Amino acid sequence: MRQNNWNNDWADVIPPNLSEPDAYNNFFYPDLCHVCKGTNGGNLILCNECLSISYCSVEHKHLHREDHTEFCVNMKKFLRLRSKYEKYSPSRVDWVNSRRDLLRIMKKEMRRLLMPCEEEMIMFAKSCYVCFQEFDLKVCNICYSASYCEQHEQQFLIKHNKHCPDLTFCLNLEMRLAGIKFDYDFSIFPDDMRHVDDMESFVKNYCCWVMFPEFWTSKEYFYTDFVSTPLTVYYGMIKAEIDILNGHTQCFVCHVITSSYLEADYAAAWELLLHGLHEIKELTVVLIGLEPKAENSCFDLCRKCKEHGRSLKFEFSRMLHHEYINNPLNKRPNVIIRFDVDLHDEVTLIDVLSSLRCPNFFISTSESIAQEIKTTLRNLTEESYCPMYSRRNNFRSFQPRRDFKTGTIYYRNNYVTIYESFSCNT
Ligand SMILES: [Zn+2]
Ligand SMILES: [Zn+2]
Ligand SMILES: [Zn+2]
Ligand SMILES: [Zn+2]
Ligand SMILES: [Zn+2]
Repeated sequence: MRQNNWNNDWADVIPPNLSEPDAYNNFFYPDLCHVCKGTNGGNLILCNECLSISYCSVEHKHLHREDHTEFCVNMKKFLRLRSKYEKYSPSRVDWVNSRRDLLRIMKKEMRRLLMPCEEEMIMFAKSCYVCFQEFDLKVCNICYSASYCEQHEQQFLIKHNKHCPDLTFCLNLEMRLAGIKFDYDFSIFPDDMRHVDDMESFVKNYCCWVMFPEFWTSKEYFYTDFVSTPLTVYYGMIKAEIDILNGHTQCFVCHVITSSYLEADYAAAWELLLHGLHEIKELTVVLIGLEPKAENSCFDLCRKCKEHGRSLKFEFSRMLHHEYINNPLNKRPNVIIRFDVDLHDEVTLIDVLSSLRCPNFFISTSESIAQEIKTTLRNLTEESYCPMYSRRNNFRSFQPRRDFKTGTIYYRNNYVTIYESFSCNT
């Protein structure tokens, strides 16, 4: 398995070539100038209103002012909330919960979707890696992803050093991917992809930019992220030997229950499922749980799909899943896909237990989350429900992401658990 075996090209963090205007809003690091992602030798100007964002120069501060003002005004109201953490050392759990609370409050206050960088300003707010206090900190000047207070320098070094290379790689990748648009042409995919076993061989076979398969560039890492969910579903069905089409289905409906807009951003990748399950003519993916970002959309598919008269539609529903399926006007699913399900949450639990009779995919970032889901469901249903398939996912993303919950990194779609059918409902 590839574990970030990057070559020397990856040794240095290269500031991004931000040809797209506003591409800097794609990501946020508290110790980099938000606009140019430079460090200015550590001499950054902190926004003196919200104390959450920095710039290398007055020019860059001005450049970002219009985008930042609304968030800044709202964030300033909650400085009081933050200062309470000066008084005691919260545990990591407390701190993570405080981030979630603040995110929820800010979304409500601003009455709009937060930009990715605004969410990150809350999740990746500067705090000591050990005690979580937020003032007078030094940053790791290799990965720029973790900070420490004077008192905790030694503990920080011990805890952080083993994660620093991964976090540096993550920053490096974000820098290189900022503002880049990718072209892809799915017509190179054959209608039978069964001989491919994992993401690495998928990239090797079907990623048209790979010159030296042993050394991936940022494009390949991005690509694995882009195609991971539909491939996880396709290969999951093969591995679990699910006869999902029941022989004669031409229309196929996926319910995707998620809180992440990435699934919406990567919508076009679902065309791969039309290639894999080539009996399908019409694929509809319903994203459930998200505010519609765009109108329901149809996609311009590849030459091959057009020749076969295939179509791919994307729909949004902000309803909860159990509300959605009880509405007779809505489309019944052939498969249900859920991400990082938290069964401690009552609404989620109702959602899962009132699911329809069709395969249910639980996709998780970690084995422990997957394990918890299995255990909880087994206990709740008195062992009547066992997954037909549960293992590390060969088609996970290889693009690392910062994890505010652990201060390390994670990969999307790392683990997959499939239940054949999940309910007494018909
Ligand atoms: Zn700058
Ligand atoms: Zn501000
Ligand atoms: Zn500390
Ligand atoms: Zn570091
Ligand atoms: Zn196609």
